[in-house]
Amino acid sequence: MVSFADLGLSEKVLKAVQDVGYTEPTPIQEGAVPHALAGKDVLGIAQTGTGKTASFVLPMITRLERGRARARMPRTLILEPTRELAAQVDENFEKYGKYHKLNVALLIGGVSFADQERKLERGADVLIATPGRLLDHSERGKLLLTGVDILVIDEADRMLDMGFIPDIERIVSLIPFTRQTLFFSATMPPEIQRLADKFLQGPVTVETAKPSTTAKTVEQRLIRTGGKDYEKRATLRDALRSQENIKNAIVFCNRKRDVATVWKSLEKHGFSAGALHGDMDQRSRTNMLQGFKDNVIQILVASDVAARGLDIPDVSHVFNFDVPIHAEDYVHRIGRTGRAGRAGQAFTLVEKSSTKYLEAIEKLIDKQIEWMDLPDANVAQPAAEPEAKPARSKTRSKSASRSKKPASEAESADPQSELPASPESEGKDDRKSKIKAQNAERKSDSDNKKETKSSKKGKNDNKKPEQSTGFGDEVPAFMMIGR
Ligand code: AMP
Repeated sequence: MVSFADLGLSEKVLKAVQDVGYTEPTPIQEGAVPHALAGKDVLGIAQTGTGKTASFVLPMITRLERGRARARMPRTLILEPTRELAAQVDENFEKYGKYHKLNVALLIGGVSFADQERKLERGADVLIATPGRLLDHSERGKLLLTGVDILVIDEADRMLDMGFIPDIERIVSLIPFTRQTLFFSATMPPEIQRLADKFLQGPVTVETAKPSTTAKTVEQRLIRTGGKDYEKRATLRDALRSQENIKNAIVFCNRKRDVATVWKSLEKHGFSAGALHGDMDQRSRTNMLQGFKDNVIQILVASDVAARGLDIPDVSHVFNFDVPIHAEDYVHRIGRTGRAGRAGQAFTLVEKSSTKYLEAIEKLIDKQIEWMDLPDANVAQPAAEPEAKPARSKTRSKSASRSKKPASEAESADPQSELPASPESEGKDDRKSKIKAQNAERKSDSDNKKETKSSKKGKNDNKKPEQSTGFGDEVPAFMMIGR
């Protein structure tokens, strides 16, 4: 078994790692650290949650022990696509660099230029930046990138999604060719491969998990819903209430505007919820994130961009309010749970119009996701519109579980949240075997689908939202009620 001491890290870094309590390096750390320490370029293909941040932070700190920073000339540069990720990397330097006196500057939007300039003026050992803000500083003449010895480009595929590639190319053109480059991406689409080829010289490739795989510890389920916004919100609430063991959950929305609506709706129905989206000011984002990390907020509603790569260990549940349009986003979303071998649950609301996205996801992950029946599918029942009625109380519950929510509020405000009689009137074993049979049927459909493409359309259950499919071996808590 490889230990941290085998990787070649300095004594001070090893001590800091020991203080954090890690016993052994993760595969990306084991693969990347020795090469990074040897000054080689590294192409790391790894998702968040694999320990990839430490895989570049630890060797960087070790290498920075020699040499000193000069005013306005940072020695190393780390590019991150979002402010939260940049802040997270900064926290990593605090954690692992506690026995060093490193000057770490964070250049992100939403923070005053003056403070950031002061840090640069003092001479930064490490500069962590989002591309836009970095270019702003560089154009003001307050920053010279000619002293950068180590460049890290993190989350390159997300940079691509966010349209940052031209900015990255500009920034890299300002850094000497002699630098060491560490390049990380969860997936390697052709555009990212092109960049890697351009920026890296004789890189060592370290790949930890195949891109597009979802962790085996995550139980994934699909939930059918009507496509109207109020129907989806009602389905989401039903889904949340069907789970009794929610420690904390992230609800992903495709659109920014839905983030705020879903958040407010959940609060109104007594859930402990917060939100994270790109338009919020930095302070609110930081507060929300902290609240979620501290378990003050149980459910965090977020957009892909805002939540990408956030280090929130041990999220028990992920709910996709929409099927993500980009199949890769599904992998990233699901990657928020089931980390480090823990069990996680991921539910995706599927409306009729999004079955094509679902097909793309199943193709990417090479797996058919099972459907889960909620007792009451919220499909085209306008009477279910909850927002039409004001909630009786503003009391916020700390738990989303059915047993803990303030019953008077949530149930009276939303008739659809009542448990229907059907699961109780039907024997548990009957239903379970029926569901098993349906899933078996679906599996055989899926096998057929693989064999012959021409049969695909007619046999794909995803295209028939009316048809009831099931739970596999799992029986959700609501089915046990009354037994
Ligand atoms: P990352 O992939 O960098 O976002 O890291 C995911 C999580 O894994 C973070 O909470 C890290 O603190 C944690 N972590 C990093 N390295 C290790 C390790 N060797 N052992 C256990 N946890 C780790």
